[in-house]
Amino acid sequence: MSQTTRTGSPAVLSGPGSRLLALTGLAGVRPETWRQALLVAAAYYLGAKIGFAFTFQPHPISTLWLPNALLLAALLLTPVSSWWLLLAAALPAHLAAELQSGVPLAMVLGWFASNSTEALIGAVCIRRLCAAPLRFDSFRDVGVFLVFGAFLAPLLSSFLDAALVTVIGWGREPYWHLVRVRLFSNILAALIVVPFVLTWVADGFAALRGASPRRAAEAAALVAGLLVVGFATFDRHQAVSGAIPALLYTPLPLLLWATVRFGPRGTGATILLLVLLAIWGATHGEGPFVTSSPEENARSIQLFLIAMSVPVLLLAATLEQRRKDMIAQRQAELEAKEHRQQLTHLTRVALLGQLSGALAHELNQPLTAILSNAQAALHFLAADRIDPAELREILDDIVAEDQRAGEVIHRLRALFKRGETELRLLQVNELVLESLDLAHGDLVTRNVAVATDLSPHLPLVRCDRVQMQQVLLNLLVNACEAVSAAGARHVTIATRATDDGGVQVSVTDRGLGIAPERQPRLFEPFFTTKPQGLGLGLSISRSIVTAHGGRLWGTNNAGPGATFHIALPGHGETSA
Ligand code: ADP
Repeated sequence: MSQTTRTGSPAVLSGPGSRLLALTGLAGVRPETWRQALLVAAAYYLGAKIGFAFTFQPHPISTLWLPNALLLAALLLTPVSSWWLLLAAALPAHLAAELQSGVPLAMVLGWFASNSTEALIGAVCIRRLCAAPLRFDSFRDVGVFLVFGAFLAPLLSSFLDAALVTVIGWGREPYWHLVRVRLFSNILAALIVVPFVLTWVADGFAALRGASPRRAAEAAALVAGLLVVGFATFDRHQAVSGAIPALLYTPLPLLLWATVRFGPRGTGATILLLVLLAIWGATHGEGPFVTSSPEENARSIQLFLIAMSVPVLLLAATLEQRRKDMIAQRQAELEAKEHRQQLTHLTRVALLGQLSGALAHELNQPLTAILSNAQAALHFLAADRIDPAELREILDDIVAEDQRAGEVIHRLRALFKRGETELRLLQVNELVLESLDLAHGDLVTRNVAVATDLSPHLPLVRCDRVQMQQVLLNLLVNACEAVSAAGARHVTIATRATDDGGVQVSVTDRGLGIAPERQPRLFEPFFTTKPQGLGLGLSISRSIVTAHGGRLWGTNNAGPGATFHIALPGHGETSA
């Protein structure tokens, strides 16, 4: 793919300029990239000026050399194909900033070479090892940045830098001294600039605009606290030298506040602010660092700020990673819940499909009764033999049968509907009778007799009516199928209070029982021994009962057949 097609729409230019651009390949550069290049040039120039400002006079040692870190951040934010343009844009900014300070051109160009090398080493390593863009939200990404972007790149380029200074003969400092001075300055710059730029450019300003008033107030309080503590610690003349060690800890609670509450973005901004305040104070002879020679001051301030930034960046990334993992886990749980609900609903619909023939029969009965009652009324009318009392009786029957049919339809609709779980305090016996009503047609069709043994005094249970009916229906249908195969068509459904204050429902059949080798697999999804079976009834029933805080299990009877038990926690009140 050519660069033009990869980078999108080219800048629209015409005339001799456009021919020149076309020849140099610049015509394919997107306007967006031009803007970035200009921004890099401006930031590089400004960074160099700040670097000069943060110099301990009278020695020409900058405590904080920002341009290289700014260049690294810019490269990390830009496609590799545009890197050359950013470097080209930084060159005039570099010349403009450095030539003013009276440094020979060879040295100025040498420094540009070592600065660009540093940014390139960091950017190449990070791009290779981390998925772009770097967001400082995982321990690994921050680790890669610290090792390659903040340490290795400044170290390797410092060897080159010091060598160039020595060869060109600019200054009299020994080689290793130059390496060390440049290294610490550039490590610190990388630590404060790259996390800040990368976390804020991504979506930081959008997040700021979308922040709730409470969050904005918290952020404002944090910034105010940082400014107060920062000035008090780093920018005030320290008269009492004994207070120095304790003073260095004062920004720590605020830094931890930013880390815990505002993530990598807040941490990056807080570190930047504290470092600027600390270095500003130190270069102006204030704060706890101005105790010995300028070189020592520079070294101690850099070491202190580096040692403070590294663990905080790692902590912020770890917390952010954990937060994201928790969100992902919650999302997965929600999805799993949704899938469970879908499956529960589908198996319920399948169960109702199984019962549909019997249910149609169930509805047919009241309809037939309504028809014969209506025909009887017509007959009386035709014979002109109207007895108001008899007519009322007929109409009462019609109303009662219609209500019966309506109830069946109402229950069916509730079972077909897919709704949220609705927990209510219910009477178990009522649930049993409702389920028997729903299964009535099927029981009649299969010629199965059901006996009930319902304890009159039971605690209430907190459950979803539809889901519990689904479980009971499932056990009843299984029991019917088991006894149909055996021949002794008897099923018993019993309820009793348990010693722990709960309720137990048992569905007993006189079927063939459960073969020992099948026993461990009964509740596995898709385990079935029936030609048309789905094998989901018992597994879904168990998950429903478990979600209600109960248990579902099956055992063979002492005599023929099997019993399936549901145990549910009770809720105080007993009901008749
Ligand atoms: P399905 O009814 O579609 O087979 P279930 O999960 O309801 O799915 O049941 C799984 C298996 O458990 C059945 O195929 C059957 O072998 C066994 N089973 C369930 N209820 C009984 C019972 N009352 N007696 C004997 N075996 C049973």
